[in-house]
Amino acid sequence: MYDVVVVGGGTAGVAAAYTAAKNGLKTLLVEKKIHLGGSITSGLVLPVMNSGKSDINRDFFDKLAEEMAKYGAQIDFEGNKGWFDPEILKIVLDKLLTSVGVEIRFLTSVYSVEFDFHKNIKKLFLQQELLSECINKLYSNNSDCLRDVEPKMLLEYLDKIDSDNISKENKRLLEPIETRYVIDATGNCDVGKICGCNFIENLENETQPVTLRFIMSGIDMEKFAAFLRGIDADNEVSPIERIGEEIHLSTAYTWDKGSRWALKPIFEKAVAAGDLTEEDSNYFQVFTVAGCRGALAFNCPRIVKNVDITDITSVSKALIEARGSIFRLSRFCKKYFPGFENAYISNIADDLGIRVSRRIKGKYIYTERDIIEGKRFDNPVLEANYPIDVHSSAKDGSTLKKIGYYQLPVESLMSADVNNLFVVGRCISADFKAQAALRVQMSCFSMGEAVAKYISALRG
Ligand SMILES: Cc1cc2nc3c(=O)[nH]c(=O)nc-3n(C[C@H](O)[C@H](O)[C@H](O)COP(=O)(O)OP(=O)(O)OC[C@H]3O[C@@H](n4cnc5c(N)ncnc54)[C@H](O)[C@@H]3O)c2cc1C
Repeated sequence: MYDVVVVGGGTAGVAAAYTAAKNGLKTLLVEKKIHLGGSITSGLVLPVMNSGKSDINRDFFDKLAEEMAKYGAQIDFEGNKGWFDPEILKIVLDKLLTSVGVEIRFLTSVYSVEFDFHKNIKKLFLQQELLSECINKLYSNNSDCLRDVEPKMLLEYLDKIDSDNISKENKRLLEPIETRYVIDATGNCDVGKICGCNFIENLENETQPVTLRFIMSGIDMEKFAAFLRGIDADNEVSPIERIGEEIHLSTAYTWDKGSRWALKPIFEKAVAAGDLTEEDSNYFQVFTVAGCRGALAFNCPRIVKNVDITDITSVSKALIEARGSIFRLSRFCKKYFPGFENAYISNIADDLGIRVSRRIKGKYIYTERDIIEGKRFDNPVLEANYPIDVHSSAKDGSTLKKIGYYQLPVESLMSADVNNLFVVGRCISADFKAQAALRVQMSCFSMGEAVAKYISALRG
């Protein structure tokens, strides 16, 4: 019997699991991939955005930054200590979470749940990665002719799983786990979906484009920084800082009106020359990466066509389109930016960057009005001032609305339908605009930490 099972070892999930175990709760963390970190590691989403000076529920983030610094994998850029190396983060998270006693189960997700009479989740049925299980089985039975039989056997095996109602013959695949509380940190509210919970309906146009991020390495950063200083002398969109021996910087361009985009003429030239498509130029943003000399993390390409993230065909097309765009953007950088002569694509994210998807209907639906009015709550989960950041597929359609400090109540992290189900991360109970401010990593860390503390207070 666990006190807490956290499903999803991403941004919010790692904070929840770490805090729960540190507070003495018997904690299991279930992650479908082979490492922790979620959007940060799988999606290469860097850095943690600055979201104000409050210290409410920031213990996990502070500890993480401290540990990352010990590995030379963290820097403090313009007062923001959330600049991390995403590969080292995988190692540090393993170490940090196991050090407080979190049990971690990789390559595992939730298949189904069992409720008690009070609509509490009593049991979770964990599902190991079917494919890897099947392949193991194939190897042991058919090592000689594996290539010939693999697809057929795989189908038969999956059929069997359906017809046998899973548990009898395939016990190893489905494991019942008893728990007192469940925290859904899957980003897409997968546990809520399995439980049949209600979700917040999106109105038309309440969607944000997806992005497949990548990293280029081998860049002469001194040369690139000198070039940026030349075209953006007032540093309006290109902050540059020397930290120790290394140059760190960021710069951006979008096809929207607004800031004085120093890179605008270069993008226009590349589009006119056919080196980029107009869509490739819709959003461009880069950040240096802590501990990785000569590397820049790209917050692009942003896919302007609408992608239904619950439809594999739609997601597959977006991935193919995005990788094509990554190649063009990398060639463009090499041709137009001094310092990129020897640069190459070193990483492409293995997850699509999803800004918003399913959101749970909670005990409190947090709204844009709450944010704008800076509504106060007794025991806030967080206090932040990150703007309402809505990316749009349409030219000049994106908005970044600056606001004062706002708080979030814990009731927005509680399912309205299932008593012992909490939801943290980008899939919380918030309307579209409020989620657009709350989805940043710092807020997700705080949500995980807050819920774990709340549960440990309930457990006494
Ligand atoms: C393109 C893009 C750029 C962004 N830029 C920034 C930025 O610069 N700075 C910033 O602070 N924020 C940024 N954000 C926002 C931020 O990164 C995310 O909103 C946040 O990290 C989401 O955290 P999460 O915990 O909800 O989900 P995630 O971090 O995605 O974690 C979800 C985890 O659950 C796992 N999982 C999913 N389903 C299951 C399942 N069924 N069973 C088990 N495990 C499962 C996943 O593998 C993953 O590890 C950006 C977002 C995007 C998409």
